Amino acid sequence: MSQVAFHTLGCKVNHYETEAIWQLFKAQGYERVDFESTADVYVINTCTVTNTGDKKSRQVIRRAVRKNPDAVICVTGCYAQTSPAEIMAIPGVDIVVGTQDRVKMLGYIEQFKQERQPINGVGNIMKNRVYEELDVPAFTDRTRASLKIQEGCNNFCTFCIIPWARGLMRSRDPKEVIRQAQQLVDAGYKEIVLTGIHTGGYGQDMKDYNLAMLLSDMEAQVKGLKRIRISSIEASQLTDEVIEVINKSKLIVRHMHIPLQSGSDTVLKRMRRKYTMAEYAERLVKLKKALPGLAVTSDVIVGFPGETEEEFMETYNFIKDHKFSELHVFPYSKRTGTPAARMEDQIDENIKNERVHRLISLSDQLAKEYASRFENEVLEVIPEEKYKEDPSSGLYEGYTDNYLKVVFPATEDMVGKLVKVKITKSGYPYNEGQFVRVIDDIEEIQQEAI
Ligand code: SF4
Repeated sequence: MSQVAFHTLGCKVNHYETEAIWQLFKAQGYERVDFESTADVYVINTCTVTNTGDKKSRQVIRRAVRKNPDAVICVTGCYAQTSPAEIMAIPGVDIVVGTQDRVKMLGYIEQFKQERQPINGVGNIMKNRVYEELDVPAFTDRTRASLKIQEGCNNFCTFCIIPWARGLMRSRDPKEVIRQAQQLVDAGYKEIVLTGIHTGGYGQDMKDYNLAMLLSDMEAQVKGLKRIRISSIEASQLTDEVIEVINKSKLIVRHMHIPLQSGSDTVLKRMRRKYTMAEYAERLVKLKKALPGLAVTSDVIVGFPGETEEEFMETYNFIKDHKFSELHVFPYSKRTGTPAARMEDQIDENIKNERVHRLISLSDQLAKEYASRFENEVLEVIPEEKYKEDPSSGLYEGYTDNYLKVVFPATEDMVGKLVKVKITKSGYPYNEGQFVRVIDDIEEIQQEAI
């Protein structure tokens, strides 16, 4: 039996796609082995979001070549899409496939075995207008299932290379989304995380269908699904219609990740983001009204070219005033090939780091404040794995619907199930909980009947 090993760099979408590529190999009778062992084929799914992503990808490729110089080395993903020639030039690389035509990968491997000639299978991504269907019926090691619903982005923010790696917006056929979701629920997953490159843009390329309709169709049609999480949604995509659906929904969780990037209109303009802070705030207030207790998380880039102390403070104060529940803070990092990398007024690294730290402390403080609102409440948690900090403690960790990470005494058979847990001590990153009970199947059926 031939063996294949995978290494995935980068985001959730890449991890999802590695699982999809694994399904293709599995169908051809391959066995999956650890990346550190000797395999016949190595697939490296690369990332290009920052210059460091490229560098790390190159390191992993070289590591695979060293592991088994006779193996077929196959490189795919975003870095492969944007820089195929650079990758082909690495000694030992045999096949390069970008972010499309993954179904051709196995054919290329056979071709390579016959001809022993390197293959560059990367085509022009900008011409692609169709979502590439790939099946992911289960995940190798996760209790939360991702479900990719769209590909690409039309925004071209000045700091971002991703549209060049992923192409323009393409939405997945709703029938396929529902079929895949049902398949995942049937495989035992209770929560589905809708993912994509620009997830909330789902439907923008469709005539008579949109995100709101997808969300309600999923809720009505996927039997046994307990939670729907949207991995990321722009403020402008939180239309009245979407808020209405979220408001009525029993499955969409009380957690939204709404990228901010900056809280200053002048910086947003330089970033070529498509909203003002007034617009963002208006959507946020409306959404919070519809969903009391909502957890709002966000991404922020600190030290974008030209960012003044005043502009940074606009971001800081906005976050503080609107009480985000957690932030992902990134120091701006130049991405070659993007307009922002060529901008003057690049910010000194020390200033960037100092601002990053200020924002991280604010995020920690807000996260603690948010969590404290739920002390003594009984919430539903899906235990995912043993408590990472002390795996032999008998404690397990998992998330509530509003994205609080809870640690509590549990047993292996509870993993992946819905469990009621009382929050005994709030905190960040962990909250402590007391196991109350497992929500059993009969109760689930009763709840569904109501
Ligand atoms: S919205 Fe902006 S940051 Fe997000 S993928 Fe598109 S171009 Fe990149």
